[in-house]
Amino acid sequence: MNFIRPDIIRPPSEWNSYFLPVTSGCSNNTCTFCMYYDSKLQMRDVDDVKSEIDGLALFTRSRVRLPNVPKVVYDVAQGWDGKKVFLQDADALVYPFPKLAEVLQYLNDKLPSVERIGTYATPQDILRRSSEELKELSRLKLGIIYTGLETGDDELLQKIGKGVSSHEFVEAGKKVKEAGITFSVTVILGLGGVEGSQKHALATARVLSEIDPEYAGALTLTFVPGTPLYEQWQRNEFHALSPFQSLEELKLIIENSNFTDCFFSSMHASNYLSVRGRLPQDKGRMLKQLEAVLAARDPSLLRPEFLRGL
Ligand code: SF4
Repeated sequence: MNFIRPDIIRPPSEWNSYFLPVTSGCSNNTCTFCMYYDSKLQMRDVDDVKSEIDGLALFTRSRVRLPNVPKVVYDVAQGWDGKKVFLQDADALVYPFPKLAEVLQYLNDKLPSVERIGTYATPQDILRRSSEELKELSRLKLGIIYTGLETGDDELLQKIGKGVSSHEFVEAGKKVKEAGITFSVTVILGLGGVEGSQKHALATARVLSEIDPEYAGALTLTFVPGTPLYEQWQRNEFHALSPFQSLEELKLIIENSNFTDCFFSSMHASNYLSVRGRLPQDKGRMLKQLEAVLAARDPSLLRPEFLRGL
């Protein structure tokens, strides 16, 4: 079966990367809120990945386009500065280790200008890799792994089909950091609904603090048609937070977090308000910003619904 190139879904900080697909879909396609729910995982053939790297290297060096290389490669490469590569798709770390190491080695050989390679990974993918394998990937310039914790509440993790416990998340985080790879973790505001909001926020703050990642980001729950959570919401079985309630949740997470040195942000397009800073030192300023908006309750201070993105 021919590999179907996935759409580009990426962390905000990877905006200037070259997007190299090694998989399509997600190996853990059971999360009830996610657009990858029920997606089919596809692995790309190593030779196919290498031929894209060949085409990319030639284009980067001399702007020569090969007829057998798909146009999308050149579209993505057009404004690329040659420094960052992001492996697609939803959990590229699931790609078998020998093949992943071969692809990264090839990328290093053909494009020595590349400084950092990034990927999404599930905690299951991380725990499946040995510490030595992660260190080898780090040596091959895998510099950052992005993972969705979503919530620290174990009951909620089970309910949303994440397939992993908060304890396993903490283990995965430790393993990544020990390998010298930067860890970036996202959580989802509103995931527990109105009834589960406080429990979700407090448990998320506790588990995030235990993981103690270099980067943590808050997203706000967006309902994706076709997912089980969307259906529950439509049937009024899930009660969504209001925008200001989601900011109260964000405040609770920041207030109760205890990081060594973490860049925390809610800059993602799904959020109603962008707050960012380094924790712990910027905690007071970030909380003040949230308190001021919560006190004013002025909707014009928030990102309008139609401008929110996934
Ligand atoms: S939330 Fe992550 S692990 Fe779950 S289906 Fe989506 S991409 Fe896969």
